[in-house]
Amino acid sequence: MTNDKKDPAFLFCVCTGKCPGFATMDMWDFINRVRMELPVKYGVIHPQLCEDDGDRYLENTLNAGEKVIIAGCAPAMQYKLFRDAFEKVGLNTQEDLIPLDVRDMTTDEAFEKVMNAMKENGYDV
Ligand code: SF4
Repeated sequence: MTNDKKDPAFLFCVCTGKCPGFATMDMWDFINRVRMELPVKYGVIHPQLCEDDGDRYLENTLNAGEKVIIAGCAPAMQYKLFRDAFEKVGLNTQEDLIPLDVRDMTTDEAFEKVMNAMKENGYDV
């Protein structure tokens, strides 16, 4: 299914699920397409990764040496919000995080954004 690169973890942060930025897509179709059609280690939805329980979730699930794609808000925000949690598990957001802004997109547009980002990062998509 993939080349020698390890499949990345895929997290979809939905801003509580009530954020208008995700109203134009079907969130469940999106996560299910990503986890079934792209070479990711797993795909999950989290309601709010930038809250304390989001930090705990990242610290408990991520592992040193892996790459992590997070679909959610703007990359600049993500680098800032997730820096500490990544550092606690030996990851570096600048190198190990692939942050994707998928707000205000349709399901197809968001899926294509993930697929293209994986291609650009050398995954065998
Ligand atoms: S990390 Fe970004 S997308 Fe997720 S809840 Fe916080 S602001 Fe919203």
